[in-house]
Formats: sequence, C-alpha cells, structure tokens
Amino acid sequence: MRIDLISLFPEFVAQCAGFGVVGRARERGLLSLHGWNPRDYAEGNYRRVDDRPFGGGPGMVMMIDPLRAAIRAARAADPAPARVTYLSPQGRPLTQAIVRELAARPRLVLLCGRYEGVDERLLEAEVDEELSIGDYVLSGGELAAAVVVDAVARLQEGALNDAGSAAQDSFEADGLLDCPHYTRPVEHELGTVPEVLLSGNHAEIARWRRRQSLLRTRRRRPDLLAAADLSPEERAWLAA
Ligand code: SAM
Repeated sequence: MRIDLISLFPEFVAQCAGFGVVGRARERGLLSLHGWNPRDYAEGNYRRVDDRPFGGGPGMVMMIDPLRAAIRAARAADPAPARVTYLSPQGRPLTQAIVRELAARPRLVLLCGRYEGVDERLLEAEVDEELSIGDYVLSGGELAAAVVVDAVARLQEGALNDAGSAAQDSFEADGLLDCPHYTRPVEHELGTVPEVLLSGNHAEIARWRRRQSLLRTRRRRPDLLAAADLSPEERAWLAA
C-alpha cells in the first residue's frame, strides 16, 4: 500500500510510523510513505501557505494553491487512482470498519490541516472524504494521519507476525471488545491467572474468552452490543 501525506510536517508522520509493527511493515515493503510539503509549492520569498480569514476573526487559513499543487503532485506520482482524505474534526468518525476499508485500498492520500483549517474551496474541489479521530481538536492533522497510518499498516498482510492476532482484536468481525489477556507468572502479588487458561482445554478456553468479551462489552461499551454478531443463546445469556 502507498500512502501520500500532504502536510507542513510530513516527517512527523514518518517518524511516528517508524517503530514496531508499522516500522516493520515499511521495512517489509508492505507500506510506503511519501511526504508532500505544500510549502515546496508555494510562491514568493516567504513561501507562504496561509493567510488571514476573510470576514475577520482569529487564526490563519491554509491557502488553496500550494495545497492543490501538492495534492496534484501526489496524485501524479503513482498511476493507481487515489481518493483524497482530509483529516478533520468535522469528518466521519474513524472506526475499525472504516480502517478495514481503507486498508484494502492500494493507496491513500492524507491531507493534514493546520491553523484554523483549509480554504473551503480546496476541500470542495479536491477532497473526497473527511475523517475525524474523535470529538476533540488537535493543532494539526499529522497526529490524526499517524493514527490512520498505524491502524491500516497493521492490517496489511504480513505486517503482524501472527496473522490471527488482528482477528481477535476489539471491534473486529464479531463487533465485541477483546477478552482480558494474561502471561507469566501464574502467581503474582497482583493476582492469579484464571484457572481455565491453564487447563489446556481449548473449547473451554474459547468459551471463557467469548463470555469475557460479552461481559466486558456490556459493561464498558453497551452501545456496541446491538450491532454485534451474537447468537440467540448469547443474547439470552446476557439478558439473564
Ligand atoms: N477550525 C477547525 C474546526 O474547528 O473544525 C479546527 C482546525 S484544527 C486547529 C487544525 C487541523 O487539525 C485541522 O485542519 C485538521 O486537519 C486537524 N484536526 C484537528 N482535530 C482533528 C480531529 N479530531 N481529527 C482529525 N483531524 C483533526
């Protein structure tokens, strides 16, 4: 997968994506990151990329032309068609289902705003979708882009050492939260590992994990249960 970043600080995202699973995915050639700085496409001695908002008010707005030139350069750099995604607090809230959909695309172009945001005309003309990483405001889109890069990178085939581990994560196929996990030592001053996990009985372990996921989802995120993939027996068990 190829990801193009339109950003005043593309190296920030590249840095975030240099460690662990994402760093490995890049080393394995599963993911490539390409930065496009609008300042490189700005004119004049000061290479200006922002200006005051019409109508007055605080802050600055990112200008159309440097951004448009950077987006067009990114689009032209690869023949695969690219949808342009603007990271924005006003966008569609990012979910694991959207991450799966993004991860299946051959390429992404991520546009990171700064200041008060981007001239609306650029968004209308060049952007295909807006994505938010939550109902709060960041000072720039780079952290949000890094979140997207991380989440899609780990879903690339071959990125995780154990391909099955993504399937059991929260929000995956069944729509539930993941079960609790334990490792050595069995006995610790903070507690003991649940006996069933030491039993070697795989059917019992699977049943325990599933029930833990159900209970935990009900307790922490009851909103997820309505859409979760549960059997009638499980729904009855939860209701009891
Ligand atoms: N004035 C804008 C608003 O209230 O909608 C916020 C601008 S914010 C200070 C600057 C940039 O940070 C935005 O253009 C966007 O790219 C990014 N950003 C801020 N919060 C975000 C969020 N929750 N999700 C994704 N991107 C965000």
